[in-house]
Amino acid sequence: MLELNNVRAGYGAINVLWDVSMAMEQGRLTTIIGPNGAGKTTLLRAIMGLVPLSQGDIKLRGERLNGKPTWDMADAGVAMIPEGRMIFRDMSVEENLIIGGFNKAQRAHVKTRLEASYDMFPRLRERRAQLAGSLSGGEAQMLAMARGLMSDPKLLIIDEPSLGLAPLVVNELFEILAKLKAEGRTIILVEQNTERALAIADHVYLLQGGKVVLSEAAASVTLARLHDLYFNH
Ligand code: ATP
Repeated sequence: MLELNNVRAGYGAINVLWDVSMAMEQGRLTTIIGPNGAGKTTLLRAIMGLVPLSQGDIKLRGERLNGKPTWDMADAGVAMIPEGRMIFRDMSVEENLIIGGFNKAQRAHVKTRLEASYDMFPRLRERRAQLAGSLSGGEAQMLAMARGLMSDPKLLIIDEPSLGLAPLVVNELFEILAKLKAEGRTIILVEQNTERALAIADHVYLLQGGKVVLSEAAASVTLARLHDLYFNH
């Protein structure tokens, strides 16, 4: 579904990604793990068109994605749930959700999408009129997820969703991820919680220093081996 070929990208004179090639299959959950500064967020930003490529290309269902502006991504069926949630704190929960469903393709279905969000995240229904800034960390992450889902994406890109959340909320989050996977969505998950990420993923990439150092079926990768690679590469 998504293919990266020899991608190089970075920030001005600073190159971060070095010849990265990956393939994300339809309906599968791919996790990208790696130490701080490995380039995981930069990779997601490159897919979203937020960081320009200096080499290589990115294809969605065979069509070149790089060069497309970020605002066209929602209509192309791609949504990103950024690290740090980036919700609008001074707006209500419902207003945050409506913004997520305001792309051309979904605008007419906002009501249906809202109901689907509230069915998946019942606590957001209870809090629909509340300011987003008053939510707990877990609720804010759920809101960020629900907002991303409002455009009914086929490809969902999620950056470090469990960051800073209490263990019980992390459990809830991974239950939601399992549901999204069961719905047949293609998911790219960047996670620091390697154990949980491996347990839910179909495929795993380990990124280090902006390079892919491991690409394997998640079922055949052990935590011990990953830790070895993490510390000895
Ligand atoms: P983390 O887990 O800490 O988020 P990461 O793997 O997501 O790490 P990136 O955020 O992609 O890593 O950062 C990769 C490198 O790019 C780092 O060296 C970082 O300092 C640099 N970098 C990130 N954002 C920018 C920016 N806007 N301008 C310049 N350099 C940046």
